[in-house]
Amino acid sequence: MRRPNALVKVAGPAAILGALGWTLWLWPAHFLWIYPASGALFIWFSWSGEREVKYIFLFLVTAAGFILPKLAPGGDSLYLMAGALAEVLCLWLLFYALSSSETSRQAARDQVAAEQAEAAQRVRDLEDELARYRLHLDSTLARIRDKGALAEAIHDMGAAANPDQVKERLETLLKNYFPGAVVELRTGAPRDFADTWVAERKIPLLVRDSASDSRFARTQFGAGERSFMALPLSLFGRLVGFVRASAGEPERFKASDLRGAELACTLAGVSMENIYLFDKVNELAIKDGLTGLYTHRAFQSRVEEEILRAARSKTPFSVVMADIDHFKSYNDTFGHQAGDTVLKAAAEVFSGGVRDIDFSARYGGEEFALVITGEGKERAAAVAERLRAALEARAFNFGGKPSRVTASFGVAEFPAEGVTASQLVRAADERLYKAKEAGRNRVVLE
Ligand code: GH3
Ligand code: MG
Ligand code: MG
Repeated sequence: MRRPNALVKVAGPAAILGALGWTLWLWPAHFLWIYPASGALFIWFSWSGEREVKYIFLFLVTAAGFILPKLAPGGDSLYLMAGALAEVLCLWLLFYALSSSETSRQAARDQVAAEQAEAAQRVRDLEDELARYRLHLDSTLARIRDKGALAEAIHDMGAAANPDQVKERLETLLKNYFPGAVVELRTGAPRDFADTWVAERKIPLLVRDSASDSRFARTQFGAGERSFMALPLSLFGRLVGFVRASAGEPERFKASDLRGAELACTLAGVSMENIYLFDKVNELAIKDGLTGLYTHRAFQSRVEEEILRAARSKTPFSVVMADIDHFKSYNDTFGHQAGDTVLKAAAEVFSGGVRDIDFSARYGGEEFALVITGEGKERAAAVAERLRAALEARAFNFGGKPSRVTASFGVAEFPAEGVTASQLVRAADERLYKAKEAGRNRVVLE
């Protein structure tokens, strides 16, 4: 409701009072008719709502009601006095009625105002809550994004083909995680105080502010190293390097950042271990454990590759099969361990006596196979002859007993004597047996 202004509040009752006083002055004998008009004052106040002034006017009007009969000519008649009294009572009743209706209106207004205030408070509370939810939502979304990026980086690291790639991806991950920070990966022994600290304790180091860290002197850090982290990089439980991140401003890294970086370093270590184990398993599958030569299976695929290459380049190549002579009796005489040593020595002779582009494998127990790349069987037989002589020349001594070992060789060439791996191996094998039959310790190529 629009409240009347102060002028209206004063001017209203003054006008009513003025009009009343004027009419009473003009017609004092008719005060009984004029006096009730003072009720207009209460009606006025009930509308304008001036509570205190209203009581003053009630007092004045009541006083006037008692005084008027005394002042008006002939007003002291019992009839007029009773009339005036009745009018005063009626005005009081009017005042009471207006006051109580005003009070209940005011109470209703107060209630509405209170409800409004309460509603406004609830709106504010809801807005606060909404703002908090938005904040929570934003941070949750940011965390999801971070986790997504982390999961992608972990996946990337796991898919790396070699340790260098893992290191590269770890560096990229940390640089993305801490934009603007300097990230460095170091391998090898500790190089400074931070590396040493990490190496001694085997835990990561977090320096929130290098200017106020009691563990280190400010001078130990570089100029742009107010915030600092150093973490260990381990492989199979052995410390192999350090990861460090630094920033020019203090309080850049929190404990949660250190945990995140530690997780990334652990994952990088696990990825590198996986690569190492994978390579090891591969090597075990293609390398013979005793002699270090390639296995039978690796020999087969090498021959197949060689066939394709030789066919394309229209050049020959040769396969040489070798078998140690009387090896069973050698084992019987000198023992199995001596036999193993001889096998290792023979492998050394065979792999050391061919070019890097050739291929030497342990075909079976005491049988060896060679691929002589780009050469026909004459040249290959010459190589085999050299190997035969080298093995024969080698002196062994087991338990004070000197001994020598010889081997027999069979040679076949691609494509004249076989166009598949099995044809070539069969042809070379047949000649090896011819060499055995002819008295062993020789090379046969026909
Ligand atoms: P030949 O001159 O006809 O080839 O006679 P050999 O005794 O060498 O032929 P045979 O095939 O009868 O025997 C091969 C022996 O090689 C039998 C086995 O005890 C031995 N041998 C196979 N693998 C190994 C090994 O890894 N270590 C040792 N010490 N001996 C092995
Ligand atoms: Mg044999
Ligand atoms: Mg043999």
